[in-house]
Order: sequence, then structure tokens, then C-alpha cells
Amino acid sequence: MAGVSLKCGDCGALLKSVEEAQEHAELTKHTDFSESTEAVLNLVCSTCGKPCRSKTESDLHTKRTGHTEFTDKTSETTKPISLEVPKSSNDVDMVDASTAGEPEEMVVPDVDSKLLEELESMGFSKERATRALHFSGNSSLEAAANWIVEHEDDADIDQMPLVSAKSKSEPPKPSLTPEERKAKAQELVYDFIFIIFVLCLLNQLT
Ligand SMILES: [Zn+2]
Ligand SMILES: [Zn+2]
Repeated sequence: MAGVSLKCGDCGALLKSVEEAQEHAELTKHTDFSESTEAVLNLVCSTCGKPCRSKTESDLHTKRTGHTEFTDKTSETTKPISLEVPKSSNDVDMVDASTAGEPEEMVVPDVDSKLLEELESMGFSKERATRALHFSGNSSLEAAANWIVEHEDDADIDQMPLVSAKSKSEPPKPSLTPEERKAKAQELVYDFIFIIFVLCLLNQLT
């Protein structure tokens, strides 16, 4: 049987709809709701027409007002609960903002400007150099030069690479430990030797 209410696991309250459960959650900070087949009561006071949603509530009403006659209209008002969150809900926490369907803004990725300059001074176009740095992880001239050698025949090698503006905001590379930094510095020396090698290779090809 389909659920006809949502039950709060924290206090046992029965809620008639997702909206009610949301309200309850806001008021009480309770978050543990589950679908329940227990209907929310609809006891209507025969004297004044006040609807009571539980035996406790109608008892209280009797104590306060002396009204004792209630008509049980539960079956009339009970309907299967819809777990669909209403569109008008401004509870943005429940909606993943990243899937909100906006077209992604595309931007040129950040690359190491020093490495870019060096590649450009070696005769590579800005587009090719940016592309190589971006796709090789922006880590070293060696990696970028390697990338260019591997991708020289790509149709789009001289097109500026584009990434979504969102991913651009992420740090381009992890920070290095002092040891890694030292190793990197050493790599640069090898890079230099390697680049000269690549340049000779490219000269032979053209
Ligand atoms: Zn509760
Ligand atoms: Zn009454």
C-alpha cells in the first residue's frame, strides 16, 4: 500500500505532505522522515468545525472548549502522499545548483605564464603552447614539448583550448612539498636538455 503520510522519525509526528514535512523540518530541525501508511487523522469538531489531526489534539480541544462530538473525516481527506517536491518550493538546499541547466561559460585555461613565454620564444604559436601546457598538466616544458610532439597532427593543435569557467577556478596543480620542489628544479635542467633535443628533432622533420 502506498504511503498516505510522512512520519517524523524524531518525534513521531505525522505530516500530510512533503510541504508539511519541510515546514516541520524547519521548525524542529527534525530530518528523519519516512513514508507511512498511518493516515493523518481529520477529526472535525461537530460543534465548531475545528479540524484536529490526532486524538491528542481532539482531546485537548475537548478540555479547552468542552466540545466532545467529533466527526471522523479521515477517509475523506486521506490521499496517497506525493513525494514530488512542489515547484514553488524555495528550499534550494534540496536542488543541486550545478545541474540547473545554465550554459557553461567557456574560458581559456590558465597556464604557467613563464612556461608559455618560453614555448613562444621557441617559435610555438601561443595557441599551440597554451594547448600543450594545459593538456600536459601545466607542469613542465618537457611535458608540454612531449605533448606537442605527440599531437602535432591534431587538426585543432593551433586552436586555443577552452575549459568551463567552473573548472578554471580549481587550483591548476597541487602544491609541492620541499622535496618535490627540489626534484622539480632538477627536472628543469633535464627539461632544457630535452627541449634542445626536441628542437633538433623538429628541425630535422621540417
Ligand atoms: Zn518531528
Ligand atoms: Zn469545537
